[in-house]
Amino acid sequence: MKQNINVNNQYIGRFAPSPTGRLHIGSLLCAVGSFLDARANNGQWLLRIEDIDPPREEAGAADDILRTLQAFALYWDGEVVYQSKRYHLYHEALDYLLEKGEVYPCYCSRKTVKENGIMGVDGVVYNGNCRKQSNIKSAGKNYAYRLYVDDDEILFNDRIVGFYKQDIKREVGDFVLLRADGLWAYQLAVVVDDAMCRVNHIVRGQDLLVSTPRQIYLSKRLNYKPIQYAHLPLLTNRQGQKWSKQTLAPHLDLNCKENLLRQVLIYLGLPEPIPADSCENILQWAIVNWDIKRVPSNFIITEN
Ligand code: GLU
Repeated sequence: MKQNINVNNQYIGRFAPSPTGRLHIGSLLCAVGSFLDARANNGQWLLRIEDIDPPREEAGAADDILRTLQAFALYWDGEVVYQSKRYHLYHEALDYLLEKGEVYPCYCSRKTVKENGIMGVDGVVYNGNCRKQSNIKSAGKNYAYRLYVDDDEILFNDRIVGFYKQDIKREVGDFVLLRADGLWAYQLAVVVDDAMCRVNHIVRGQDLLVSTPRQIYLSKRLNYKPIQYAHLPLLTNRQGQKWSKQTLAPHLDLNCKENLLRQVLIYLGLPEPIPADSCENILQWAIVNWDIKRVPSNFIITEN
């Protein structure tokens, strides 16, 4: 699968929210962090709505995310990319891997995967049952496609977290690219889209750090160019839980958006005092003062 060429080697970053709910303070921090890093490097900042898992999505959330970003003056470059319109690209990538014999159909149910695997860094490690075609009892069953993962230890240097290492064969195992219910796996869609959009810098939350070695591994299998990563600290509640829909993250009150923005900039290590001004002017100031070395690498507990 051919990746487009970035002629000038310009910085291309992105923000890629899933429309599972409205933005909250944690996702705002990711949006602002990725925006500032792109703009401070004279780069582009793309927006991609990751709407490939309809059962988890909330009606109206995608439009709400766009409106919220605009309210904070977080203006993106180009057209919004919707993953739901790009299944053909994921198919192409899967076909390429199929042709090279790098993926295999897996007929195991979630239950058998759970019962037969040990716990890894991100769920159960698949025991590789369907690697041996003779083990497959396929009659009439739906199947997933998994990528063969062989003896690769992935090490990368994150711009915020530093060196991060994972033995994906042992700690994750052969992972799913197309699910048995016909939905594309996040790992495949994200890798294909970042490559096709020529993204070369990813700045996102540390909840995805554990996925990054899989994405680097898959991206190598697809002959894509390497990407620089920076994983931002997570904002948590007092119990240490990441703010999300499940932990009932409060909605962003747009009546005090300047204060929220200033708060996020403080979390990101911007120097104080932060000007009391419009979001647009605060962001302009933040671009000039942005220094990724000042971003804390640990999670941050917030009051609400
Ligand atoms: N869609 C993912 C999320 O909202 C982020 C994907 C990414 O940044 O790679 O958590």
